[in-house]
Amino acid sequence: MDTDVLIVGAGAAGLYLATRLRRTGRHVTLLERRSEPTHATRAIGIHPPGQHLLAGIGCLEAVAGGAEIIRAGRAFSGARLLGRLPLPPILSVPQSHTEAVLRAAAGGIRTGVTYLGHRERPGGVEVETDAGALSARILIGADGWNSAVRQHAHIAWTGGAYPFSFSMADTPDDTGFGPDAVLFLSRHGMVECFPLPAGRRRWVVLHRPDREPGRQAFLDDISERCGRVPPLGDLPVSSYRTYGFSAEAYARGPVRLVGDAAHVTSPIGGQGMTLGWLNADRLMRLWDSPEQWNRQAKALAATVIRRAEWNMRLGGPTRWPGWRNRVVRVLLAPPFATPLARRFAMVDLPAG
Ligand SMILES: Cc1cc2nc3c(=O)[nH]c(=O)nc-3n(C[C@H](O)[C@H](O)[C@H](O)COP(=O)(O)OP(=O)(O)OC[C@H]3O[C@@H](n4cnc5c(N)ncnc54)[C@H](O)[C@@H]3O)c2cc1C
Repeated sequence: MDTDVLIVGAGAAGLYLATRLRRTGRHVTLLERRSEPTHATRAIGIHPPGQHLLAGIGCLEAVAGGAEIIRAGRAFSGARLLGRLPLPPILSVPQSHTEAVLRAAAGGIRTGVTYLGHRERPGGVEVETDAGALSARILIGADGWNSAVRQHAHIAWTGGAYPFSFSMADTPDDTGFGPDAVLFLSRHGMVECFPLPAGRRRWVVLHRPDREPGRQAFLDDISERCGRVPPLGDLPVSSYRTYGFSAEAYARGPVRLVGDAAHVTSPIGGQGMTLGWLNADRLMRLWDSPEQWNRQAKALAATVIRRAEWNMRLGGPTRWPGWRNRVVRVLLAPPFATPLARRFAMVDLPAG
């Protein structure tokens, strides 16, 4: 065999797993089709269980060094404060920074190499890439939600799109909200904004169903729901749909799926990357019990996907905004506030 473990994809999940595996002395080959890292704006939130796992590989300090720390969330209806929820510390840091720290920890990556397919052979797999063939005992698909590894392993992918569209932009922060995350609820849907490092803030808008997502809708919806507009200038606005998907199996024969290749959750609540690390950590602990890992990892993903759906629907359009405001006020006060904060920060998930 050329290598013990071949990991396809050097995103957050593949890098984390490669770091863990190499530290156990296994021979790991990590393939990445990009020649240069992406700076696309995606994850910012790293919840306490993710911080714990980063600490375990000695990366927390470097990631947190570039982060803002969110310690509370506030909910408004227009200008009216519905409540303020103290949260366990959540890091807010661009995914590109987190991945740069993980790349340094993981070590060698074969960049500019694309996985094309594989076939099983006794004791492992024969993998085809655009740079030649490689054999491995275990093949890990960490190649994102469109995973070619999953497709070549004929593992079904179930789920779909939610009926919500969003736009998002990172702007200078002139809100005065400091390190608090803020949610504005309205009849037509929510606006969220989160502090980012270096005096910036991320704005996320759930669009009215009758508005085409985009730059103008982004500004109009914020203005109507928050009574202000962020200083957008020429900064880019990205629009996206949200999805919930899970693979039918995360382990089949010599193939394992981690990160978005195994499960995709709505980004509302910011839990996808941390979920990927949690299941990669479980894989390490249950390396010799793939069926048990499969069961546990799928159950954890189902819980996180369900919770993200709940977050999204709570902030979705409603015909009864007054009732929803009352529910939110109740949730943000004792006795519900502490369990809600723990759930939002992922600290109540089963340890596995
Ligand atoms: C708008 C948005 C906001 C988000 N916010 C948060 C948040 O705040 N907190 C959070 O925890 N999560 C968040 N997420 C989710 C998070 O970004 C993903 O869960 C995470 O990026 C998944 O990492 P991954 O390594 O599994 O996949 P990816 O990041 O997709 O990485 C896969 C890698 O595989 C490579 N690859 C693909 N195919 C091949 C191939 N054939 N050969 C070789 N290489 C290949 C790709 O180039 C890529 O580098 C957000 C997502 C979005 C879209």
